[in-house]
Amino acid sequence: MKKLIVGNWKMNGGLLENAALVQALLQGLPRAGVEAAVCVPMPYLGQMQQLLQGSPLAWGAQDASAHEQGAYTGETSATMLRDFACRYALVGHSERRQYHGESDDTVATKAQRALAAGITPIVCVGETLAERQAGRTELVVKRQLASVVHTVGHCTSEIVVAYEPVWAIGTGQTATPEQAQAVHAVLRAQLQAATAHAGRIRILYGGSMNPANAAELLRQPDIDGGLIGGASLKAPEFLSIIASVPAAA
Ligand code: PEP
Repeated sequence: MKKLIVGNWKMNGGLLENAALVQALLQGLPRAGVEAAVCVPMPYLGQMQQLLQGSPLAWGAQDASAHEQGAYTGETSATMLRDFACRYALVGHSERRQYHGESDDTVATKAQRALAAGITPIVCVGETLAERQAGRTELVVKRQLASVVHTVGHCTSEIVVAYEPVWAIGTGQTATPEQAQAVHAVLRAQLQAATAHAGRIRILYGGSMNPANAAELLRQPDIDGGLIGGASLKAPEFLSIIASVPAAA
């Protein structure tokens, strides 16, 4: 299974910057050995389709609606994302859970909608600092993942999971490789109990991953890639993270 490195641009970019960024990424991407994608703001999905179709860099959205269609002002359905050939959609990013009140159930429905549209949901789970300090990390991430597994059922093997400790996102405070690996092992065991095809599910780490810490994180047995926020906006940094994927992976 190839490692997967996904950039989450969040609410950043513009037509000109995006074009320069993806051009630099296309020039620097290795030919094989690793898969890479960028999750961009909704208005730029058409631009990505135009610039990246047929290239080794995949693209995706940062959210997908829990609804199929109708009177949901401001929402974007998974079917609409498919019109722009998105391969991925982030669901349940901690910023969506925190600022938009997304519950585990909502996130699970979003994952289901994405799958139904042929899009791979990247299901984000992770504990807050208070939850970690209270010794509740395992409980929280298992609850978040269980909701998705319960809802998508036999399609569980089609998802990607991203473990993103909330305290590590955008803070420069990365989980140590040991801390991350411990949680990834818990999630792996949970997926193994849920599906006979857990071996094909990638579990990404996200949270202040950068060129300096990526190699050590990506060497952990249950870390199958990375979800990169800040560092994905700078081509040299994102390419350097991609280049740090261990050769044997
Ligand atoms: C993210 O937003 O998914 C993320 C991991 O951000 P950062 O890399 O900036 O911590």
